[in-house]
Amino acid sequence: MHLARFPRRRYTPHPTPIEHLKHLSRELGGPEIWIKRDDLLGLAAGGNKTRKLEFLVADALAKSADTLVTVGAVQSNHCRLTLAAAVKEGLKCRLVLEQRVPGSYDPKASGNNFLFDLLGVDGITVVEGGSDLAAAMNAVADDVRAAGGTPYVIPGGGSNALGALGYVACAEEILAQTFDMGLALDQVVCASGSAGTHAGLLTGLVGASSGLPLTGINVRRTREEQEPNVHKLATETAALLGISAPAREDVVALGDWVGGGYSIPTPEMIEAVRMLASLEGVLLDPVYTGKAMAGLIGLIRRGHFKNGERVLFLHTGGAPALYAYQPVLQGA
Ligand SMILES: *Cc1c(COP(=O)(O)O)cnc(C)c1O
Repeated sequence: MHLARFPRRRYTPHPTPIEHLKHLSRELGGPEIWIKRDDLLGLAAGGNKTRKLEFLVADALAKSADTLVTVGAVQSNHCRLTLAAAVKEGLKCRLVLEQRVPGSYDPKASGNNFLFDLLGVDGITVVEGGSDLAAAMNAVADDVRAAGGTPYVIPGGGSNALGALGYVACAEEILAQTFDMGLALDQVVCASGSAGTHAGLLTGLVGASSGLPLTGINVRRTREEQEPNVHKLATETAALLGISAPAREDVVALGDWVGGGYSIPTPEMIEAVRMLASLEGVLLDPVYTGKAMAGLIGLIRRGHFKNGERVLFLHTGGAPALYAYQPVLQGA
């Protein structure tokens, strides 16, 4: 894939590590489990949005923007990282926060919410769940223009075709790195939310003719809702690159580990977060990677993988949100 055609900022000076989780693999008695440490990406406290922002912020700078405007949930990692990129680039940043769980915004909350303040956010607008988020961001952008600024609006999760290029690049990184390590993977598993990560990774893996199957674990939507979302974005990403799109049947986004809804804790998430911390010293998060790892553990227990298979779990970050969920996780 000819990614060098697209302007890009660099926020991580090296590939993220791929590590063998040998205690967890032994505990579960299934496949060999490996982890791609995208929680160690650059910008404040890392995570998957850093890869998307490399392309999105480069585009904002090319368009002479001086203010990034984006949207996320009240504990949004994407908002934290967009704000951190803005700080690094000398830009302003205004956030729209959606209360997906009614009443969930607490200006005094810890976790990412605390970091919005610490990183010096230029403005927060809180809207109710299910609001027209594009309209809410456009209203903020109008405000920025009225004050003489030049806004650049980034969709939720940085998930458009340009942002998804970050995960096309990650697919190339994984293939090059595992070749170098002599590690022949059989499967890849990642969280599937606003879909840019899943769609970009799939576009990259299929575009490289890797033959590596990718399974997304949903954190918000049902399988029936999410798979068309991922396929649509993968198709747009492939079009931007000028390559052929992944087939609809290449998209697998399982909805069995969402539980009561986005960001609502489940017993399986709590088990996964505590297991990875105590067995491997790896911090997952309660909203995304805890549920995605619960999905991987669940698939292993269902006998989904053959013995001896090697599966790579993409750790997309999110640990700062742990501090907002301490009462749910501590001593559980
Ligand atoms: C946003 C996010 C995801 C989901 O990625 P999408 O590209 O939105 O599907 C997964 N993990 C973490 C920690 C995130 O912040």
